[in-house]
Amino acid sequence: MSTDNFLSVTDLARKNVRELIPYQSARRLGGNGDVWLNANEYPTAVEFQLSQQTLNRYPECQPKAAIDNYAQYAGVKPEQVLVSRGADEGIELLVRAFCEPGKDAILYCPPTYGMYSVSAETIGVECRTVPTLDNWQLDLQGIADKLGGVKVVYVCSPNNPTGQLINPQDLRALLEMTQGKAIVVADEAYIEFCPQATLTGWLSEYPHLAILRTLSKAFALAGLRCGFTLANEELINLLLKVIAPYPLSTPVADIAAQALTPQGISAMRKRVEQILQERQYLVENLKTIRCVEQVFDSETNYVLARFTASSSVFKSLWDQGIILRDQNKQPSLSGCLRITVGTREESQRVIDALRAEQV
Ligand SMILES: *Cc1c(COP(=O)(O)O)cnc(C)c1O
Repeated sequence: MSTDNFLSVTDLARKNVRELIPYQSARRLGGNGDVWLNANEYPTAVEFQLSQQTLNRYPECQPKAAIDNYAQYAGVKPEQVLVSRGADEGIELLVRAFCEPGKDAILYCPPTYGMYSVSAETIGVECRTVPTLDNWQLDLQGIADKLGGVKVVYVCSPNNPTGQLINPQDLRALLEMTQGKAIVVADEAYIEFCPQATLTGWLSEYPHLAILRTLSKAFALAGLRCGFTLANEELINLLLKVIAPYPLSTPVADIAAQALTPQGISAMRKRVEQILQERQYLVENLKTIRCVEQVFDSETNYVLARFTASSSVFKSLWDQGIILRDQNKQPSLSGCLRITVGTREESQRVIDALRAEQV
């Protein structure tokens, strides 16, 4: 058999896939911890009973109870809601619906969430970046200068991993500047921790605005894989063209609908209250620790802090089973670690371990 032109399986893969660095999720990075503060999850499990037993049947593409309950919760119409396999699927559907591979681009402003680039690169769509200003706010002039060919702009507010809100007047300026040119995606994965900041009230003014939401953070359901995109009907209908026929399994839709009942929502609000109190405890203590240079204000369920010798601090806590998220490699985040707000016991473990650091 000739070996001429023999292509290995890897050779056969698309070039952008061969070159792709997959998302370094907290789970993928591993670690042998018993204190997991690296993925912004809720620290304890909420119990559910399955009520749907029709697993012989395919599920609805857009399960009505989950959609109706989310619309009610978010104060929008059911036609303005798309449900997907986590907000991460929403990020990808937006690239697939709006960006021509090899031609169009997405734009985002680092330091921010890592999945915007991974989704675009997987699909073969150019990533354009405009780093934030020194205060981690948008460089509006920089964005305006780089908007040519951009079809989707992702802005995370409150931003992961910095924890602060993007100025609403800047978001408005961005929406004005992109009218008739590009979609603006506001990633509100953490909005339950600062609900007054949501942009849902702006949907009626901006047909090119899409808002991402998730059940993975304040709703304590990261393992469920369920997220939502909120936008006007025209935009939602385009996403419905590219979504898989059965994106959510029946048990997922069942539990999502339960989590979004009035009782589910009030339980979520109680969890948020408790996390906000716990965040205050963590922040106050971090500020008294020698190896902590700076603690940044947070509107979320995590805290970003700058450390002296962050890499050795990170490693030392890792070796003690306390797993944080190292943000040191992100632009403008040298020396920074991100700490999820967990239980009081978990906060105490972090504080005690940091106090013991000899730096
Ligand atoms: C966690 C997170 C998501 C992903 O949410 P899933 O619904 O779990 O896919 C999206 N955006 C940001 C900023 C996040 O932190």
